[in-house]
Amino acid sequence: MTRPRPEDAPAADSGPGPDGDRHSVRLLAALAVVAVVALAVGLAVLPRIGSGTVPGRGTAATIRPADLCPAVRQDDAAALAACLVADLERTWSTRTGEAIGLRVEVDPTPARVHHSCRAFLALGTAFYCPLDVRAYVTGASVSGLRAEFGERLPYGLATVVAHEAGHRVQHAVDEPGLEGDGDVASRRVEQQADCLAGVWAADAARRGRVEPAAFRAVYAREMVLVSAVRPPPGSGLEGYDEIATHGTPAQRLAAFDRGAAPGAEPAGACSLRRG
Ligand SMILES: [Zn+2]
Repeated sequence: MTRPRPEDAPAADSGPGPDGDRHSVRLLAALAVVAVVALAVGLAVLPRIGSGTVPGRGTAATIRPADLCPAVRQDDAAALAACLVADLERTWSTRTGEAIGLRVEVDPTPARVHHSCRAFLALGTAFYCPLDVRAYVTGASVSGLRAEFGERLPYGLATVVAHEAGHRVQHAVDEPGLEGDGDVASRRVEQQADCLAGVWAADAARRGRVEPAAFRAVYAREMVLVSAVRPPPGSGLEGYDEIATHGTPAQRLAAFDRGAAPGAEPAGACSLRRG
């Protein structure tokens, strides 16, 4: 999950900057990929998302991945993504008091993606492009999620979409520091998005849509997988470093846990300007 940040653009959501190697290097340096991580060992000892009995839904242990988006085919990634977008939009609009305008495209053709963000398709993950205000989940990412998570695909896709939604929230509330240079600034933005994903996951758990421990396990695993992503030769992204720009899987899971903790609020737990 990459978060391209067009440093040369005149404004965050306006046109692209100049092309060329220098721009590419700066773009790379500013990049932030979204990753999700997992620590099989840590799962046993780290705090879990608060849960318990969900009114009308039985115990949390009875909640299945299919309960997240029960009205759609569970192997239809585009339909699942649309369901998740609707849920995330409702959640974040309520939290922030304004429409977020979340848009996510699954398996986009290159022509669909703003040219300044297009190179990130080569990573085969997902990314938020502030230039066209959309998040993209590549076909390669969907294939990987299917292979890894099987019938837990709704959770796998949700880890990706919830993180990218976090970036949309950051822009919607005009979070300070989004255009900051360097890996330190990038990690702060990326882990805040992980934290916001945790806020949403806990909210969905309270509504009986998500089984918190199972979802956290998928988030943790996805963090590990995405942290292993390396840019393919010839992609123009050779200098990209997922862990440098996002943090380690353990750091990212810790950020998720901060957001998912009982009673956590985005402003306090995730240091979001609003929410
Ligand atoms: Zn990200």
